[in-house]
Amino acid sequence: MLDIKKIREDFPILKREVNGKPLVYLDNAATSQTPQQVIDAIVDYYQNYNANIHRGVHTLSQEATDKYEQARLKIQKHFNAAKSYEIIFTSGTTHSINLVANGFSSLIKKGDEVLVSAMEHHSNIVPWQMLCERTGAILKVIPMNQEGELRMDVFDDLLSDKTKLIFCNHISNALGTINPIEEIIEKAHKVGAAVLIDGAQAAPHLVADVQALDVDFYTCSAHKICGPTGVGMLYGKEEWLNKLPPYQGGGEMIAEVTFEKTTYADLPHKFEAGTPNICGGIAFGAALDYMNGVGFKEVAKYEHELLEYATQELLKIDGLKIYGTAKNKTSVISFNIEGIHPYDMGSILDKLGIAVRTGHHCAQPIMDFFKIPGTVRASFAFYNTREEVDVLIAGVLKAKSMLL
Ligand SMILES: *Cc1c(COP(=O)(O)O)cnc(C)c1O
Repeated sequence: MLDIKKIREDFPILKREVNGKPLVYLDNAATSQTPQQVIDAIVDYYQNYNANIHRGVHTLSQEATDKYEQARLKIQKHFNAAKSYEIIFTSGTTHSINLVANGFSSLIKKGDEVLVSAMEHHSNIVPWQMLCERTGAILKVIPMNQEGELRMDVFDDLLSDKTKLIFCNHISNALGTINPIEEIIEKAHKVGAAVLIDGAQAAPHLVADVQALDVDFYTCSAHKICGPTGVGMLYGKEEWLNKLPPYQGGGEMIAEVTFEKTTYADLPHKFEAGTPNICGGIAFGAALDYMNGVGFKEVAKYEHELLEYATQELLKIDGLKIYGTAKNKTSVISFNIEGIHPYDMGSILDKLGIAVRTGHHCAQPIMDFFKIPGTVRASFAFYNTREEVDVLIAGVLKAKSMLL
């Protein structure tokens, strides 16, 4: 059992008011809030050992390097990667995906096929479209059904020996669907295709074991898992990371530079050009420590209870429709009320101190599928409460009475 009251004490922001009302923060799928333990790690870095890493002989530089590399080890352990150098620090999921998509320019050719799921975030669509434009590869879409579940029967038909790459999110940020990535990975490998799983939305809710999954690439962003913005990770199997060329050139990623020829550094530095987000990386490690201290099993159970309660209460509201009703889903609820624009609903909820997201959630193809401009999205974290669900329900009812 989680002690929610105690957990909430860790998050200073949850004490603030918005528009004279206690903040009810239900936009966790966009970014999570930051516990004091992570804030402390950030302050500690700037107060006590701020220095550039890897190059310095002085004490501060060595301390910063040690802490940064310890964070890499924490990430390795958390995702159960076989080697620490299979963990590449990036600025986040978007950067990770672009790194891989760029690298594949030299590995795929005209006529090869690339499969993407119908429920991707734009950051897991656009880089692959750019790759296909550069190479002449063909992008094909794994469709979904009305519940927001992938059509695995069509996936089977789309797979062939032309399929070289498959991209899919572990959990959809717009619908909350947990995708059957084990099956996707296994079937992809049977035809020799590589798989990248976008774990941005999964990382806050569950622990992915990259070796057990046998996934080729896995990515996430620290800011969705109680860490800071601007830092994330790319896991890649060693054999794939060795095949991919560097993404950016600069300091830190080289072995030797002359004007005739430059040789590249070994993994992971080959992909880490320039001074990284040192403080962010260290704070990412602190965030994983924090989350593991709370316990992912307990988090998943508690968030599921919140999801079920909120779903049941929202569905009591006349004219309310939930988008994304997959059997297997996390604590994300996208909804609309007939006749009310999501933006109007979101604005009134904000006046009541309730933070939800409105719009297309960087997933326009999903909105096109349901033929809607967008949704109101409430996404719950382990520090949310049943009382906050009640505040949301009362807010939605109030907005409805004002707008209809
Ligand atoms: C948030 C999110 C992203 C993008 O993450 P950034 O941190 O903005 O790079 C990609 N995919 C999914 C599923 C997300 O939820």
